[in-house]
Amino acid sequence: MDLVTTTPIEQINEAIKRQESARLTKPLASYQSRVEVLKKLKQVIGENKALIIRALQEDLGKSEFEAVIAEIDFVLSEIKHSLKSLKKWMRPKKVGTPWVLMPARSYILSEPLGRILIIAPWNYPFQLLFSPLVGALAAGNQVLLKPSELAPKTAEVATKIIIENFDPRLISVVNGGVDVTTHVLDKKFDHIFYTGNGHVGRIIMQKAAQFLTPVTLELGGKSPCVIAGNPDIVVTARRIAWGKWFNAGQTCVAPDYIIIEKHLYDDFMVELKKAIVEFYGSDLENSSDYGRIINERHFNRLMNLFSQSEVLIGGENNKDLRFIAPTVIKANFNHQLMQDEIFGPILPVIVTDSFSEAVGSISRRDHPLAAYVFSDRSDHIELFTQEVHAGGVGVNECLMHLSNPELPFGGVGPSGMGAYHGEHSFNLFSHKKSVLRRYFIFDLKLRYPPYKGKLAILSWLMRLLS
Ligand code: NAD
Repeated sequence: MDLVTTTPIEQINEAIKRQESARLTKPLASYQSRVEVLKKLKQVIGENKALIIRALQEDLGKSEFEAVIAEIDFVLSEIKHSLKSLKKWMRPKKVGTPWVLMPARSYILSEPLGRILIIAPWNYPFQLLFSPLVGALAAGNQVLLKPSELAPKTAEVATKIIIENFDPRLISVVNGGVDVTTHVLDKKFDHIFYTGNGHVGRIIMQKAAQFLTPVTLELGGKSPCVIAGNPDIVVTARRIAWGKWFNAGQTCVAPDYIIIEKHLYDDFMVELKKAIVEFYGSDLENSSDYGRIINERHFNRLMNLFSQSEVLIGGENNKDLRFIAPTVIKANFNHQLMQDEIFGPILPVIVTDSFSEAVGSISRRDHPLAAYVFSDRSDHIELFTQEVHAGGVGVNECLMHLSNPELPFGGVGPSGMGAYHGEHSFNLFSHKKSVLRRYFIFDLKLRYPPYKGKLAILSWLMRLLS
């Protein structure tokens, strides 16, 4: 396996010190400078597009289509959206002022938090490094990036893009494994943005606690997908197959398992099988549209997960190519596949007698990052969107909710804390500073000591004016 070139500790310390001592000055955080840096980022991503696609292909066997839409264009759209809206986002937000404070003006200023540490995972190694970067820069911050060492080619291209084009006082990159991340986490930042698994999420929080650094944790979980009522089963199967086997199932919001009403089961299985062949052909192993498992450790983990199971579709695999075919398994809630997030191309299917039973069983589990429902019935959709606690919900759709920059993207409970994308990123990486501006013309003496006899007058006044 290729390894990322580890940044020497002295160089890491130097990068952090450089950013610390450059501590944001006004010119770096002005509207104009933010626009310039975002435009530059857009330009250099465009210039390096071919390199990024190749790196994603080498790390994950990602097709050009998936690399472009889910990684490169995703980040470019975030940049375009930010450039279009930044002026509005940065404007001081006027708010009302209660009469007791009059005459006065109240408003909220969005100011940069300072120095942000962004730690990315391997599954969308470009998008999940650069998309939070866009938000952090739009909000006027300095950023230290830590790409995932498990996607070394993408880490290498990301590093090249940053060091060749940006002032290291504004954006720096450090590379390496757990030891490097641990070293960096022992330094002080103003915010840590981490995407990855919950186990490391807990380590991040503990490390952040030593400096009371706020954290955003973008984690995972078992995202359920319920099929009920009388939906268009062809479209349902196609959308689920796409959402599940995009990036070979290594997507944090991929449908992790299916719960399907009994009467839909046979038709759904037929259509799911058809969709797989339609998408990837009958020689799946050689399909250039189907991804690979990131490394041997994950390949072995996934193979162990379904070794004892009843395989309904797929199951073919090739260790040398890190290939596992789209695989569907008959399951129940006690199945070993139903314990942890699968994060691979295996899809357990559970049959249910009733929709409300399906919703109940989801509600008894940890809150997932996403939850999906496919149904033609408004009562199903109403119940699902109201009752299921999840980071986000897709109705008759998979994955796509996170491509709308107007919608916040993040988890709840064990699937994460904090949310980003579009204006939500800007807000996440800004401090909302309250400002109350008063004048000298009216100075109500009632508030000053001695207080004797003043409380009754004040209460009377409050009642009168409220
Ligand atoms: P990973 O192994 O690449 O780890 C992510 C980062 O954590 C890396 O930079 C790594 O250096 C660092 N790290 C790993 N172990 C560490 C340790 N002991 N101490 C300090 N740092 C450490 O990625 P992963 O965690 O395998 O990613 C997969 C998980 O991420 C899945 O659970 C998935 O659902 C989740 N995920 C969530 C989102 C989201 O947006 N919510 C997106 C993608 C992935």
